Amino acid sequence: MNVVRTVQGDIDPSGMGPTDSHEHLFFVTLLQPGDEFVDVDLAIAEARTLVDAGARTLVDWTPLELGRDLEGLLRVSRATGLHVVAATGVHRDAHYSADHPLRAETADGLARRFVADIGGPGVRSGVIKIGASYHRLQPFERKALAAAADAHLITGVPLCVHTEHGTMGLGIVEHLQRLGVAPCSVILAHLDRNPDPVEHAETGASGAWLQLDGPGRTKYWPDSTVLQLISDLADRGLSTQLLLGGDTGRRSMMRAYGGGPGLDYLFARFKPRLERELGTELSRLIFVENPARAFAFEPRPRAGDEDPPVSHLLP
Ligand SMILES: [Zn+2]
Repeated sequence: MNVVRTVQGDIDPSGMGPTDSHEHLFFVTLLQPGDEFVDVDLAIAEARTLVDAGARTLVDWTPLELGRDLEGLLRVSRATGLHVVAATGVHRDAHYSADHPLRAETADGLARRFVADIGGPGVRSGVIKIGASYHRLQPFERKALAAAADAHLITGVPLCVHTEHGTMGLGIVEHLQRLGVAPCSVILAHLDRNPDPVEHAETGASGAWLQLDGPGRTKYWPDSTVLQLISDLADRGLSTQLLLGGDTGRRSMMRAYGGGPGLDYLFARFKPRLERELGTELSRLIFVENPARAFAFEPRPRAGDEDPPVSHLLP
């Protein structure tokens, strides 16, 4: 039976309800100095606004060593009633300093860490984050992809991929396919940074999930650009592969920290507009039905709790 793994335990995918498929409740990175956010009480306040706007599930994409706070996510979930899915995995290369200890880990070691996060005794992760650079995969990212593929094959949880400006979508899917990962277990984020429906339709033909997460980034592009991309992709037959997130990944974007537009922008402002312009059926697919398939997986039996069977890896 398929489940979605939340910080409070596994749930039936049909219980997810309206879902924000990409968020960060805590985040610290050297790429955004001064824009970190780590306060649990403020995360609770911010998450309440999302619940008030109609969301029932949030998928948090903050991976290892970037301010991820599993106990904090659990506190937010308990305080707000929001289902929260946590991530293990790592981000793209540039988020880690040159001497960061994660870089010294082998692919095998990373895979063991990911598997332990997904099946361990504490707060469990329900997705594996990986990342790619702009139009290329760096050595650290190749290692992380190999580790994530192995951890996916052991656990079944989906892979959540940061694309840089929406580039390399198909290349990443094909790379993961060579590592044994089916495209239907791959979620590609930030595709609307490159609002090219033809390119993303080519990627979508593989069966991978196409995630758009740029509503509210008005200084880069208007929401109309994101809506047009959704419309174009739906016209190309991809409405059952689309996901939407807010990706409110900066302190300055959170109202609880004095910023804006706030964690609830996706549900309070963008979703109603999508429904007015593109219809409620497409909205139901994107916010309810598609996430319930994209983030669901069939838990696989474990060979041993302490020593998961990580086998091959890098040549
Ligand atoms: Zn993100």
